[in-house]
Amino acid sequence: MIDLHTHSTFSDGSDTPEAIALAGDALGLAALALTDHDTVEGLDAFLDAQARVKTRLVPGVELSCVFLGRPLHLLGLFIRPDDPAFRALLEDLRLRRERRNEQMAKRLSELGVPFDSEEARRFAAGRIVSRVHFARALVGRGTVSSPEEAFRRYIGDHAPAHVPFEDLGPAQAASWIQEAGGVAVVAHPGRFSGRSFRWDQAILDLKEQGIRALETYYGDYGPGEQAYFLELAGRTGMLPAGGSDYHGTYKPGLSLGTGRGSLRIPDSVLPALEAAAG
Ligand code: AMP
Ligand code: MN
Ligand code: MN
Ligand code: MN
Repeated sequence: MIDLHTHSTFSDGSDTPEAIALAGDALGLAALALTDHDTVEGLDAFLDAQARVKTRLVPGVELSCVFLGRPLHLLGLFIRPDDPAFRALLEDLRLRRERRNEQMAKRLSELGVPFDSEEARRFAAGRIVSRVHFARALVGRGTVSSPEEAFRRYIGDHAPAHVPFEDLGPAQAASWIQEAGGVAVVAHPGRFSGRSFRWDQAILDLKEQGIRALETYYGDYGPGEQAYFLELAGRTGMLPAGGSDYHGTYKPGLSLGTGRGSLRIPDSVLPALEAAAG
């Protein structure tokens, strides 16, 4: 069993990279990737833990893109964490995120919730401040009673204080990932769109843009989604990939390795992805 999609305190998870590595080892995972949103800063601590664990630790990242006018997430697996060009591109993304956060704070203030984005930063362990940290800050100061309420009323995708910041195209992101030695994977295609969507054409377009795999196994798939995306991958010549999307206590009920309980990602997924990297 393997898990190629997890988040640490360096983006929007509750566990440190080291704790995730140790937990993966305790579970007996053959391989485990850390894929924080738009940052590789947690990878040093994660890979340092390799000396203490049998589980193979794989460096990764999750990039937020826009495809067909909607958010699409791409994972980059086997990237070189210290690649200077890749780091510079991520730093530019982080600055865009910072500007977006300022605009979101301004919208909140206009909605009668005076807010400074520094309040959200206090909840972030790393340098990436995301909406998860906004939600926790809004709970902390009593504006809402739960993070779910914060997303529903203020900062969810369709809520009034949300400001999108992603304008990275999949082709651009895939080329960054390849240049950094990685393989680009469509994350949770089931969240982008359901089965009624014309996936075959979309996947062929993404393949054309340099993406080599899709998350056929995923922590949060409903019944039938895994079989559907495995079949789609087979039909379109994409490699299967998979992970839990573990966020620690920030996404309750989603466990490392096993997702909602029934996830089992076969070890055989890994060598094909590694061969496609770079
Ligand atoms: P950001 O990258 O700052 O736009 O924040 C995106 C993160 O917010 C996602 O990775 C999720 O962890 C979280 N998120 C987005 N929408 C929701 C929601 N409706 N409920 C809970 N968490 C959410
Ligand atoms: Mn997340
Ligand atoms: Mn994602
Ligand atoms: Mn994720």
